[in-house]
Amino acid sequence: MAIQKRTSTNVLLDTALRNFYAAAEEMRLDEGLVEILSHSERRTCVSIPVEMDDGSVKVFDGYRVQHSTALGPSKGGIRFHPDVCLDECEALAMMMTWKCSLAGIPYGGGKGGVSFNPLDYSQKERERLTRTFAARIEPVVGTWTDVPAPDVNTGGPEMIWFMDTISKMRNQLEPAIFTGKPISLWGSKGRTAATGLGVATCAMEVLKVSGKPVEGATVAIQGFGNVGTYAALTMVKAGAKVVAISDITGAYYCPAGLDIQKCFDFVSSHPKKLLEGYQQEGMQKLAGEDLLFLPVDVLLPCALEGAINGKNADKVQAKFIIEGANGPVTPEGDEILDKKGTLVVPDFLANSGGVIGSYFEWCQNLGGFFWSEEEYNDRLLRIMRDNFHRVWDYSTANGVKMRRAAFMVAIKRVADAVRMRGVFL
Ligand code: GLU
Repeated sequence: MAIQKRTSTNVLLDTALRNFYAAAEEMRLDEGLVEILSHSERRTCVSIPVEMDDGSVKVFDGYRVQHSTALGPSKGGIRFHPDVCLDECEALAMMMTWKCSLAGIPYGGGKGGVSFNPLDYSQKERERLTRTFAARIEPVVGTWTDVPAPDVNTGGPEMIWFMDTISKMRNQLEPAIFTGKPISLWGSKGRTAATGLGVATCAMEVLKVSGKPVEGATVAIQGFGNVGTYAALTMVKAGAKVVAISDITGAYYCPAGLDIQKCFDFVSSHPKKLLEGYQQEGMQKLAGEDLLFLPVDVLLPCALEGAINGKNADKVQAKFIIEGANGPVTPEGDEILDKKGTLVVPDFLANSGGVIGSYFEWCQNLGGFFWSEEEYNDRLLRIMRDNFHRVWDYSTANGVKMRRAAFMVAIKRVADAVRMRGVFL
């Protein structure tokens, strides 16, 4: 009996499902496993009433999806963004399952979020929202059940509000339920830079296996948040030339190379952490999307999903794309890039440095023993390089694109776990 394939009107969920079904078919995965893994174990929807600074009350929608716990507690971030919805969280949770599996860490996949624009609210309003959301998802999160982390528009402060609320509700400190915490409160040295460092490591490895020098390679980076900034700093340190960066205020392009440390300092001191107003000699300002079409060697889309798609992929000139964001290239975009011979390092390999770093933090929290930053980075780089080469070797040995290869390696580990554990529950 052929299975009824799931589809979705949400582009990200539809893409996640299509990629999964295609890889599963190529691997000849049993139908039962395809059925199990194309569904999420639990999808939680909550409403979050928040008292505004002016005394009025607003209600927000929040979600937490646990796609799979076959390999361990589900793991994945919480994002604050107006586009957050249940389907998007499900797609991202599913991708986390593959990401953790591919990374070789003992986690399943989860993701959550709240649908709102944090820039429109005060810090106190955001704190109340985060704490109420924490209370609403408290029954489904835990050190050995589901471990959230930062994602788009969330970071250290939000993780502390989450941890503190749940610790107070349970009347005991619960440091290992949330990762991505500040160093002073059970966080790890190295976690903030981990995702960007991992993205840059994949960029350098793909250049190396393609016989291109990292020194002098030109790079454009879409998104100058947590991932983009540390990817940029690492690329520059390795001798590459970052010529363009962008955020919601537009793209900043300097063919001679941007002063990334200066950009970083500028954004760090900007009240909204934006590039608006950044100046440098020889720099021109472009519309945000135009960054994608610049004549560069390496393009790092580190913003949001769907950036490179069927409508614009033909204009991309870069030979190497390393997906720092989750889902920045749609399947239609992928097809066009493939025909042009562009090499794409898929998101769940490229940006796995963040969750690998989270795993280190969780281990340190469980043991109550902290590592040095050198130890953290050494381990991270070793794992990222090994994982990159595992996928690269599989891809070249089997004549499949890196994305498909990564899916096949990742799905196999989860499918084996489900098979061993059985179907019950
Ligand atoms: N939000 C990050 C991701 O998408 C990190 C998740 C985590 O550390 O759990 O991979």
